[in-house]
Amino acid sequence: MTRRCAISIDVDSIACYYRIHGLGPAPARLRHVIMHRCVPRFIEILDRRGIQATFFIVAEDVEDVDDRTVGSEVRKSRALVRELAASGHEIGNHSYSHPYQLARMGRVEVAEQIGRAHRLLGGLVDRPVVGFRAPGYDVSAVMLRCLMALGYTYDSSIFPAPGYYAAKAGIMAVLALLGRKSGAVLTDPRALLAPADPYRPHIASPWRRGDAPLVELPIGLTPYARIPAIGTSLLLAPRPLRDHLLRAMRRRVFFNFELHGIDLADAVQDSIPDELVARQPDLRVPLRKKRAALEALLDNIARHYQFATLAEASAALAGQV
Ligand SMILES: [Zn+2]
Repeated sequence: MTRRCAISIDVDSIACYYRIHGLGPAPARLRHVIMHRCVPRFIEILDRRGIQATFFIVAEDVEDVDDRTVGSEVRKSRALVRELAASGHEIGNHSYSHPYQLARMGRVEVAEQIGRAHRLLGGLVDRPVVGFRAPGYDVSAVMLRCLMALGYTYDSSIFPAPGYYAAKAGIMAVLALLGRKSGAVLTDPRALLAPADPYRPHIASPWRRGDAPLVELPIGLTPYARIPAIGTSLLLAPRPLRDHLLRAMRRRVFFNFELHGIDLADAVQDSIPDELVARQPDLRVPLRKKRAALEALLDNIARHYQFATLAEASAALAGQV
């Protein structure tokens, strides 16, 4: 059987990380730094290998504004998203403004977040947008129904990793002790019991198998131990651990390898403020090292898998799940 690997990149702005760490508003000059500095680095590495990936875009980052200074920054982001689509990468919906509490929101707000992003992104690229990733890996029945109404073929938000859940709970608890509030929201614990291989979700309870018309593509976890096989951990892992995780992943026929734009950020070159660097160990690793790790990872994966976008993977897997 063909093993498939889908690479996806969540293009979360610096403001998202300021919110997670309870740091207040991010400097305005950094609003588009991830898109303008990191996305081209991904394009270069992927295009050189002929890999087509899925980029999940937060739609407000590419929404036209009537302001001269901000306008030129947004235009540059819009041009980048068009360039991605033109070279065969898939553009996915990552909500309108990345609210971490999206899974707790009601029907009207969810429809606004997902629908508005759908229209904005769809207006920017030629191909229809058919896939969604929730901010903070949290899904709800309301979200699923909204995606179904828009005719989406997949959702890729489930991340049933107990270790990730514990780490997130830990950060939030520490911030609470310090009297600060994290912008992150603890994932619904039911998601921890969700299947880790692609499945058709139950409409009223997306963490279970059911008969929804779309496919859920859970984010990469090793079998049994359920260790996250995502960009941030794989890029920073020492080589033997990285190789071990990749070998473990080969027992799955589908590897949903998720990265974030910030995974290819360089604190010095990209002028990322110390207050954020102090809280994110990955920002203390120079770009040169992370880029080399990513290239080695992709070359390793290429020997064992066929690459596909998440839309292609959902089409291929739809008949099997
Ligand atoms: Zn995100």
